[in-house]
Amino acid sequence: MKGVGPKRVALFERLGIQTVKDLLYYIPRRYEDRSDFSPIASLRIGEQNTVAGEVLTSGVQKLKRNLSILKVAIDDGTGIIYAVWFNQPFLEEQFKIGTKLVISGKVQLYGKELRISSQSYEILRSKDKDNGTEELIHTGRIVPFYPLTQDISQRRIRRMIKNALDNYLDQINDMLPQDIKDRYNLVDTKRALLNIHFPETQKDKDLAYRRIVFDEFLLLQLGILLKKASISEPQLGIKHKNKGILLEQFLKTLPFKLTDAQHRVIDEIKQDMTSEKQMNRLIQGEVGSGKTIVAIAALLISIENGYQGAIMVPTEILAEQHYITLAEMLSPLGIKIDLLIGSTTQKSRAEITENIRNGITDIIIGTHTLVQENIKFKSLGLIVIDEQHRFGVLQRNILRKKGLNPDVLVMTATPIPRTLALTVYGDLDISTIRELPPGRGAVSTYWVSKSQLQEVHGFIEEEIKRGRQAYVVSPLIEESHIIEGAAATQLFEHFKKEVFPNLRIGLLHGQMKNKDKEKVMQEFRENKINILVSTTVIEVGIDIPNATIMLIENAERFGLSQLHQLRGRIGRGKDQSYYILHGIPKTPEAHKRMTVMTQTQDGFRIAQEDLEIRGPGEFFGTKQHGLPELKIGNIILDIDIMEIAREEAVNIIKSDPELSAKENRLIKKDFLQSFKHRIDLVKVG
Ligand code: ADP
Ligand code: MG
Repeated sequence: MKGVGPKRVALFERLGIQTVKDLLYYIPRRYEDRSDFSPIASLRIGEQNTVAGEVLTSGVQKLKRNLSILKVAIDDGTGIIYAVWFNQPFLEEQFKIGTKLVISGKVQLYGKELRISSQSYEILRSKDKDNGTEELIHTGRIVPFYPLTQDISQRRIRRMIKNALDNYLDQINDMLPQDIKDRYNLVDTKRALLNIHFPETQKDKDLAYRRIVFDEFLLLQLGILLKKASISEPQLGIKHKNKGILLEQFLKTLPFKLTDAQHRVIDEIKQDMTSEKQMNRLIQGEVGSGKTIVAIAALLISIENGYQGAIMVPTEILAEQHYITLAEMLSPLGIKIDLLIGSTTQKSRAEITENIRNGITDIIIGTHTLVQENIKFKSLGLIVIDEQHRFGVLQRNILRKKGLNPDVLVMTATPIPRTLALTVYGDLDISTIRELPPGRGAVSTYWVSKSQLQEVHGFIEEEIKRGRQAYVVSPLIEESHIIEGAAATQLFEHFKKEVFPNLRIGLLHGQMKNKDKEKVMQEFRENKINILVSTTVIEVGIDIPNATIMLIENAERFGLSQLHQLRGRIGRGKDQSYYILHGIPKTPEAHKRMTVMTQTQDGFRIAQEDLEIRGPGEFFGTKQHGLPELKIGNIILDIDIMEIAREEAVNIIKSDPELSAKENRLIKKDFLQSFKHRIDLVKVG
């Protein structure tokens, strides 16, 4: 494109813009209506206004050595208003007497002088300079504002986009057949692109947005439907009998009663498992809501029917913990439980693999080790996948193929708004647990600064004297487990030597040998360690009710869902718990995250906020779902568009499953383009 050299290419790349098409689809974050010019005589002090006029005078004054001021008087025939620029004397050249310009800003009174703030203005250049084509794009209209990085200004990107629209819009295809456009009153692609950037009216903009989001959602829905078609299994599965004896025995041994929500979900599972259809159920349960018990109930049904169960979890530490919990609870019932993780020794691995194969193992717990090829089951009846958000669809399916259509239960503590869940987990039934067991202590959340740290340390010490325990989570360092481990080690030394020389401090991070990890967790569980300094390896699933304090260092670096998961590690006993965030946010988003954490404990609200802060694209995590990121549409706010897109996608696939019909040619082209990196998941003819 004209005006784009190597340097600008790099800048644009940072915005994810590589092609002219990317640029055309770079959607404004917001708009400002600067369409009304106000006569200067009728301006009101303190209001936002747009004025059009001519330069009457302009001049630079040097006030001090380091301070110069450019002052321009603008006349529109009804009055005079001044605009000033500090330390930009070079701008004077633009404001030759008689130059026409438009300027938008806040009107203020300085002495007797009427002034308008000068950040946003547009010179109406003489015609010969611009071939007469440059229109007002920065002001005097509804003006677009784009999400930007440093070194690209709004004015620059507006010009680039205008340029792209003027010169390349012709080459953009409209993928939708006319009948779909008619059905939903969708505008043409070209019109949509023009109006998403430079709309004449609010309504034009809304219609443009609707069309562009429809396209995006339609491709997404096609992807979901095609994926489902290409990987889903026959619907018939195991028809378990509901004898209920084992479950009853088990429930009797529990020191507590199930919550209503747990009862309800177990009933839903029973219905699924006793039907002849394969169970495919997602349990969305708040952290600490007691999902493990629900999983055990399901496992017992399967075992009682002579089948085996498998639990797959994302971390070794969690596998370990489940193993301890389940062995303790279920061994008395004569159930054989085994653990298979990366660090299981060769010898026991061989033995366990053999046990799984000949049916001695009733329940196998493991990480993704379980999807390895050499693991074969005698008769796999139920798969439980805990903390589903950490796994991909693929792993779920590989494990599923190890049985004859076993029932599948996936559990997650990441709440997903229902509409979103229908989209992402279109193939799963959903149960929700929002209720926590009674008698849980409250969790108070504080956000502290460095100057308060000493006080915090004193407080931790007091709680420990009362018998409680604490986690200290060390900074998150992106993409490097090694550095993360080193940072945790450093913090550990600091706590041990300088802060709490009299307490027992433990260290846990991903690079430690498994034996050492196990030992530390065991000692922490037995309260032989007072404070556990750790990386985020403790994030999911860990359940140690006596730990009531968690201090997060560099909390501003963590995402909301992670902060919520981490907080879920405390408040698990009857005692009051304390969640302390130490950090100095450097961005408005980070600031918002910290504030949200201190305001609410409701996982659903936090997920909602997370969506709003990160945008649906990132929240949605392409990695896990094998779907393209959403760049434009908001899966929550635009749910009505999502619904019609889904309906239409279903229609298309029904009549043309391979997208080979002539009228779907352009849809297929765009589809393949947006799914090009995920083609292994989606097979289209
Ligand atoms: P999560 O849903 O986060 O996986 P867990 O299954 O780890 O939660 O349960 C958290 C804690 O709550 C465990 O210590 C568990 O024993 C306990 N728990 C589960 N159900 C109940 C209940 N109905 N009443 C009291 N405590 C319960
Ligand atoms: Mg859990």
